[in-house]
Amino acid sequence: MTEFTNINSKLPQIGTSIFATMSKMANDYNAINLSQGFPDFNCSDDLIELVNHFMKKGFNQYAPMPGTIELRYEISKKVKRDYGKLYNPDTEITITAGATQALFTAFSTIINPGDEVIIFEPAYDSYLPAIKLNGGIPISISLNQNDFSIPWKEVERAITERTKCIVINSPHNPTGSILQESDIKQLEKIVKDKNIFLISDEVYEHIVYDNQKHFSFASSVELSKRAFVISSFGKIFHTTGWKIGYCCAPEFLMKELRKIHQFVVFAVNTPIQLAVSEFMNNESNIYSLNNFYQNKRDLFRSLIKDSKFILRDCDGTYFQLLDYSNISDKNDFEFSEYLTKEVGVAVIPLSPFHTSNNSQKLIRVCFAKQDSVLEIAANKLRNL
Ligand code: PMP
Ligand code: GLN
Repeated sequence: MTEFTNINSKLPQIGTSIFATMSKMANDYNAINLSQGFPDFNCSDDLIELVNHFMKKGFNQYAPMPGTIELRYEISKKVKRDYGKLYNPDTEITITAGATQALFTAFSTIINPGDEVIIFEPAYDSYLPAIKLNGGIPISISLNQNDFSIPWKEVERAITERTKCIVINSPHNPTGSILQESDIKQLEKIVKDKNIFLISDEVYEHIVYDNQKHFSFASSVELSKRAFVISSFGKIFHTTGWKIGYCCAPEFLMKELRKIHQFVVFAVNTPIQLAVSEFMNNESNIYSLNNFYQNKRDLFRSLIKDSKFILRDCDGTYFQLLDYSNISDKNDFEFSEYLTKEVGVAVIPLSPFHTSNNSQKLIRVCFAKQDSVLEIAANKLRNL
């Protein structure tokens, strides 16, 4: 029998994603799943009815390669309204199969073998493999430990002739930190007059707390002229399972991105694009998100406040970091496994967001859950 020993793995060091691993463990042990980031409540009935409507009307064949013009137009309108920049729906916006595909395709568009790409750790898990698969060299910089802000001096020092791209994620998964206006200014100064591209992962753009502002790269002339700005309807409309997102970029970048996009997915499913474009026309369907999640954040924090966990700040996203150093000496994998199997609450350890050894005693909890579920989970955590 043939042995097939010549597979020669492209990602020898990478196993199954921590999100898949912990969600499976939650199911296997019947634990409350606060691990993988997804809501445990349904999306709007109106949105479901719209999808149904377009399916019944017969919109079930391929969409145009870059996405339906209706949805690209609505995105263009929204981005202009929120950030002041007009992206041309014909040439500068592409609908993707979630932000994950937008990110991967953006990396493929710009990375050539040997190019250096600066990422910040803890880093969302899809960046590193996407960089490596495209022959890039990830250059990891640790976020400041106290508030997970970006150490700009270190960024300046890390830039070389080979720096092709800097990847920024704000609001930030897993830490919940957000960029301030001063960060935008620092980055503008660093990239000005340099051939450096930017990938801005803004999937939590509408989940920012305490009346703070989301600073999109779209709102900066210096940044937007070199940036892929990426977002996801999975976060905005509680539909992570629909895998629909988008990318905005200047025409010269978008032209190249589409050359790859057309051979990765060709196009994203039609009825959902049509439904989303109609649904987002009602602005409150987008702008109600901040308050909705702020209530959940406040509830969860108030329930955990008097426990032995230390709550880290949470300015955005639906993730809360908990420091468990007062509770256990276990490493974060062991502690997450213990919580899932023995306590009945599944969480995410932070080590998979790091390339080097991470000794911090931090876990990530997703609070995009029904209030009653948060209460039961918090009760279990409070007893530790
Ligand atoms: N980037 C970040 C920071 C995320 O948290 C996620 C998913 N939760 C994604 C990208 C991927 O989004 P999507 O599910 O739309 O592919
Ligand atoms: N982004 C989600 C999280 O951070 C998970 C997405 C996935 O499972 N790939 O939990």
